[in-house]
This record gives sequence, C-alpha cells and structure tokens, in this order.
Amino acid sequence: MQSENMNQPDHQENSQPWEDCPQGEVGRLVGSLRQKKRQRRAIQGAAFVGIAMMLLAVGFTLSQFLLQSSDPLLQGKGHQYAGICCEKVQSYGKEYMADTVDTKIAHKIEGHLEECQQCQSKFEIMQQELLNTTAQFFSFDQYALLQ
Ligand SMILES: [Zn+2]
Repeated sequence: MQSENMNQPDHQENSQPWEDCPQGEVGRLVGSLRQKKRQRRAIQGAAFVGIAMMLLAVGFTLSQFLLQSSDPLLQGKGHQYAGICCEKVQSYGKEYMADTVDTKIAHKIEGHLEECQQCQSKFEIMQQELLNTTAQFFSFDQYALLQ
C-alpha cells in the first residue's frame, strides 16, 4: 500500500519531462542552440577578420620597408621621418614654401616636420627669411594677404 503510493508519483515525475515537453520549451532550446551557433559563427568571423587585418598590416609594413629602402628621398643625411630624410626636406625647403613641390613630397615634408624639431626650426628660419624678402617687394596690404 505504502510502496504503491510512493512509486506512482516518482514514476510520473521521471517520465513527465520526456513525455509532454511543451512546444515553447523545444522552441526555446532550438533558439538557444541557434544563438550559440550564431555566436560561434560571429567569433569565427571576428577571428577571420582579425587574421586578415594582421596579414594586411604585415604586408603593408613589408611593402613600406621595401619601398623605403629603395626611396631616393631617404638616401641622405639626418633623421628619417615620414619617409624622407632631413637633408632632402631641407633641400626641398624653398620649393615647398613656394608651393612648387610635388604634392606627394609636400605631404612627406609635412609629416617629417611634425616629428623633426631640427627641420622645424630650420623651416621657421627659412620662412622668416622668405617673408622678410617678400615684404620688400609687396605693399603692406598684399603682404598681409599672403599670411
Ligand atoms: Zn629632419
């Protein structure tokens, strides 16, 4: 008597989750599995993008290195900043200020000047000299426009 009463609910408890699994439950389970799959795919995607970026970065650095070693702009005295050395920066100084230098080189010179104190001060002196000589040829109004 006692054992029968005890066994019945036990049996029901064990079998219930398997027999009447509610639809929503299955849907939720499938949904969470799909989500996990999606997460895994997202992680794989991120890893792939990371590797691709790394390869690109390595390739870019290598190509930069190869370009730099054969760049005539770097064959000279002084520091090398932004792909151009001090000697070239200073040799281009007057052209750069007259705006007659190639835009690619002008960009390099600007990049170099940001890093190189030595060239910065030389350019300041050059600019001052240029302004002084320019001032002698223009009236005050025209000189103000140039600045
Ligand atoms: Zn310099």
